Amino acid sequence: MTKIRLLDPRLANQIAAGEVVERPASVVKELLENSLDAGARRIELEIEDGGVKLIRVRDDGEGIDREDLPLALSRHATSKINALEDLESVASLGFRGEALASISSVSRLSLSTAREGSDSGWSARSEGRDMEAVLAPIAHPRGTTVEVRDLFFNTPARRKFLRTEKTEFNHLDDVVKRQALSRYDVGFSLRHNGRAIHSLKPADNQLEQERRLAAVCGPAFMEQALFIDREAMGLRLWGWVALPSFSRSQADLQHFYVNGRYVRDRLVVHAVRQAYRDVLFHGRHPAFVLYLELAPSSVDVNVHPTKHEVRFRDGRTVHDFIFRTLHKVLADVRPDTVPQNAS
Ligand code: ADP
Ligand code: MG
Repeated sequence: MTKIRLLDPRLANQIAAGEVVERPASVVKELLENSLDAGARRIELEIEDGGVKLIRVRDDGEGIDREDLPLALSRHATSKINALEDLESVASLGFRGEALASISSVSRLSLSTAREGSDSGWSARSEGRDMEAVLAPIAHPRGTTVEVRDLFFNTPARRKFLRTEKTEFNHLDDVVKRQALSRYDVGFSLRHNGRAIHSLKPADNQLEQERRLAAVCGPAFMEQALFIDREAMGLRLWGWVALPSFSRSQADLQHFYVNGRYVRDRLVVHAVRQAYRDVLFHGRHPAFVLYLELAPSSVDVNVHPTKHEVRFRDGRTVHDFIFRTLHKVLADVRPDTVPQNAS
């Protein structure tokens, strides 16, 4: 008898799901990224029980062709890249072709979609049993609705790791806020157990952007934030940094985006922290919402399945640019904002 066997596809997907689907918030991240990649201008989220019972994401993006539907739900199927070289210039948020397959292997997933100008929309569902999508015609406006019910219903070991409804919802809300700050031109709404949590209209000028920022980060941050925008050596850094007078006891208001993608990168965190070092008291954390833009070929996003980490081709230059830019900004405002010794 042989010992080595190929895993059946569902089991393989469930194992892969361990990497990308940790909790309801991770499902929301993947679904929002798909909606943004589909060119959506409005995204509506409806959540029940912290996302464990229901996550519904509805977008007005380009939709999926009927012929593509079964593939959309299979692993390693993506419309976003073709060849290894494409990874060099990938501009979409997704490209691994794993999210829908992974999510559908650990939940009851259904997807309804319609393309612009097509006679009918289509729905597909997979009940966590297998990846054979059952297709049926359905009325749907242009765009896609994905419903994920009963997350981890068939993987009790994973379900055990879920926390309270409130905790799960907070994680999920963080993801929505991060995405909302990554695309001001897209409207986002979020409802939880029937209650409206956010309703963010598309913002296309700085005033409206700042209104969104205040809604997401709080009015106090906005009042204490400086807008910056610097460019050098093919790098652009823009966004809002809080004055040292608005520091936090936790590193909980730190948003950094690389080419529109939210990242938590050690090099970036280090550069920002260094810049604030002289103006913040020990144990206090800076608050910022910053966007770094650079040629896609100068940064590798395929470092980790969740893509939270990136690798810069020239990390030194990126680090110095961030540090110098912020250091200068903070040095310029320092005299009247840092508490002075009354001497
Ligand atoms: P990836 O995003 O890495 O390509 P996914 O499993 O998340 O992989 O999605 C698979 C494919 O399904 C995508 O490449 C895309 O073609 C299609 N798709 C998924 N969600 C949407 C959506 N909301 N609108 C349009 N197409 C979608
Ligand atoms: Mg995706």
